Amino acid sequence: MAHWLIVEDDELLRDGLQAQLAQAGHQVSAAADGAQALAALAGGSVDGLILDLGLPPVNGAPLDGLMVLRQLRQRLPALPVLILTARDGVDDRVAGLHAGADDYLTKPFSMAELQARVLALLRRAQLPAFTGSGDWLMDAPRPLRVHGQWPQAWLGDELLELSQREWTLLRLLVAQAGQVVGREEVLAAWQADPTEPVTPSANSAQAGTTPGGVSTSNVLEVYVHRLRRKLADSGLSIRNVRGLGYLLEREAP
Ligand code: CA
Repeated sequence: MAHWLIVEDDELLRDGLQAQLAQAGHQVSAAADGAQALAALAGGSVDGLILDLGLPPVNGAPLDGLMVLRQLRQRLPALPVLILTARDGVDDRVAGLHAGADDYLTKPFSMAELQARVLALLRRAQLPAFTGSGDWLMDAPRPLRVHGQWPQAWLGDELLELSQREWTLLRLLVAQAGQVVGREEVLAAWQADPTEPVTPSANSAQAGTTPGGVSTSNVLEVYVHRLRRKLADSGLSIRNVRGLGYLLEREAP
């Protein structure tokens, strides 16, 4: 799930944006001025930024959206940024784009347009999108869609039949595409699944082995191998990050 930070000093608009994006399945947090925004971004968990350009001074010092954008670009060059501006002056938008914004919206705008821009930015940033229907979607030559509730996924139009464990693993990988999913996280998710729980001994990362002597990492490896076969020719691959876990990523074109 993508985490968006909304920076907007107009409380009514801020609350409205937050509610709309949350309803569409995004994780959303909000900041009312540039200082709050930079503090939230320092936390490191933000996937995208919606930034109002006209922000109030902080402790008497100017800190508008453009200044926030210039500061954050030094540290977060790839963060998707959508700027909002009340002024429809061309200069404003051009300055924003020069400062590193990816897209802009001029107020007033429709929520439908905002949603469309946000999804487009995520696609460009190669993050997965959590669709309104509760599925995970990852754009690729053959787009991967993972059902949010049932052990099914689609590559383009082709249905992938998945076991419960394969689906749980794939769902974790897609939801955190581009980031490492830890072995313990997968094993915990498997164990939490009432339909196909991992036996407690098999889940113990410390013990590392089942009574039968099969190591838990080998069990995980088997499932990763099966998923790799099912994702063959999709343009997506599952990379083993030694000692940490697995990472779903797009293959280089
Ligand atoms: Ca404003």
